[in-house]
Amino acid sequence: MSDFPLKGGCFCGAVRYEVSGYESCAHCHCRMCQKAAGSPVVTWVMIVGDHFRIVEGALKIRKSSDIAERGFCEECGTQITFQYEKEKGKSIDVTAASLDDPEAVEPASQIWTASRPSWMHGFDATLPEEEDPNAG
Ligand SMILES: [Zn+2]
Ligand SMILES: [Zn+2]
Repeated sequence: MSDFPLKGGCFCGAVRYEVSGYESCAHCHCRMCQKAAGSPVVTWVMIVGDHFRIVEGALKIRKSSDIAERGFCEECGTQITFQYEKEKGKSIDVTAASLDDPEAVEPASQIWTASRPSWMHGFDATLPEEEDPNAG
């Protein structure tokens, strides 16, 4: 369903990136993603290896917890990456909605559903819930 590389970028276009392969895609309902994005859910594309590269502009990196950092466009604020510090160089997550074509990926699970707001009625109720031991 995906033609690689997938292309994406921030709202203003200053930051552009390419994804040449990914492992999985999941909805995260954790409070940190909610606060970082100002959204009840953030859908992440999990990338292993060197399949993510910035091709234009640069991400502003902000340490968002003791174990992780998030990358966003300094101009428009679009959140693009989530990076566990211990996974640097090994894996990175990219926001599915910042892809030029979000249909190129398909979420298969959801995590941190305990903090999913009750008004997200019926949100992807068919997707399995997974526990994530970390948060950042
Ligand atoms: Zn931007
Ligand atoms: Zn999250």
